[in-house]
Amino acid sequence: MHCSFCGRSADEVDVMLPGIDGNICSDCLSNGYVALQEYQRQLSSSVTAKLNLSTLPKPADIKAYLDLYVIGQDEAKRYLSVAVYNHYKRLSQSRDDDVEIEKSNIIIVGPTGTGKTLLARTIARLLKVPFAMVDATVLTEAGYVGEDIESLLTRLLAACDYNVAQAEQGIVFIDEIDKIARKGDNPSITRDVSGEGVQQGLLKLLEGSIVNVPPQGGRKHPEQKMIAVDTKNILFICGGAFEGIERKIAMRLNTHVVGYSSAGDRVSREDRDRLLRYVAPQDLRSYGLIPEIIGRLPVLTNLEPLDRAALRRILTEPKNSIVKQYVKLMAMDKVKLKIDDDVLDYVVDKAIEFKLGARGLRSIFETIMMQAMYDVPSSNASTFRLTRDYAAHQLETSMFDAVLQSR
Ligand code: ADP
Repeated sequence: MHCSFCGRSADEVDVMLPGIDGNICSDCLSNGYVALQEYQRQLSSSVTAKLNLSTLPKPADIKAYLDLYVIGQDEAKRYLSVAVYNHYKRLSQSRDDDVEIEKSNIIIVGPTGTGKTLLARTIARLLKVPFAMVDATVLTEAGYVGEDIESLLTRLLAACDYNVAQAEQGIVFIDEIDKIARKGDNPSITRDVSGEGVQQGLLKLLEGSIVNVPPQGGRKHPEQKMIAVDTKNILFICGGAFEGIERKIAMRLNTHVVGYSSAGDRVSREDRDRLLRYVAPQDLRSYGLIPEIIGRLPVLTNLEPLDRAALRRILTEPKNSIVKQYVKLMAMDKVKLKIDDDVLDYVVDKAIEFKLGARGLRSIFETIMMQAMYDVPSSNASTFRLTRDYAAHQLETSMFDAVLQSR
């Protein structure tokens, strides 16, 4: 029995596998496997390069797509679009180019429920590279209950069927990055399980290094087979509410603007919420992120609090807005849903009154529509008109209202 590739006989090799018209020895098999991996690696990078050159959406196209689903937040949309576009550019750069484009990871600061996750999810649908969304809250320092930092990349690997070459060009959205901020000013007094240690670990990923990723995620253990992933080309987008950061911004602005009364006045007139617009890297630092991490997240942008007008638009305008969804649901029963204008104002008022923000719009609207969704399919009506009185009655007689009122 001889190997059909190298010609050696069965006693010269470890294992010989017989085929129909020939055989292959274990050495040729493993050489072939290495060659195959290299081929796949090149193939997937050339796929990205091809996409980049011809069918690449420009930043304005990316933003236009985001506009279909996300209301407002223009600045963050522009930053994201540019970052994604530049990410493609960097990936399509030839390796021997002497001006190497460095990646610009992003950090988005914004109150909860203003669209951070929605932006990330929406942009993911458009991307030509693997995308994963992960939550920083589960991460803890090695040795504590929780997940290792490297598990952030497990999701990314899963998103591209464990094709390492593709994952190495992907984008990771890390939500709730503020939850790993250092809690106190003096980390040595108590062990800071999910603070600075985790940030140090994260820094390694952001900087670009080869990390061993547990394929199943969670906590690494010695017997587990690891997958080596190079994070050099992975783009990281971080988001966090950074609750209370306005205070740090206000403090900084006040000390900065001594003697410049016009700037001082401008700030003092600002609504507290609006202070976020002035967020700067040093505020993240006073909030408890280590300077090295901040340095690795060079693009800082913010989401604006949603005002009444924005909430009202969210109800109807996005491509899959809640109102459009209900119109569709009813249409499937051949019923036309007509909604009075003041119903929408009422829903927005309630969302503001209960301090639920955009997230509350959906639950309020669902509560209002519950009875109708129950009755209408078995009635003969061809239209259902939603009036403000009906809406108010439904909400007031529901548990929803009672629960919220008791808060
Ligand atoms: P967070 O900023 O806390 O990540 P989300 O993006 O999860 O908030 O927003 C919660 C929900 O509120 C979304 O699923 C969406 O329905 C709605 N929403 C929030 N902001 C917007 C927005 N700017 N445009 C449209 N819908 C929004």
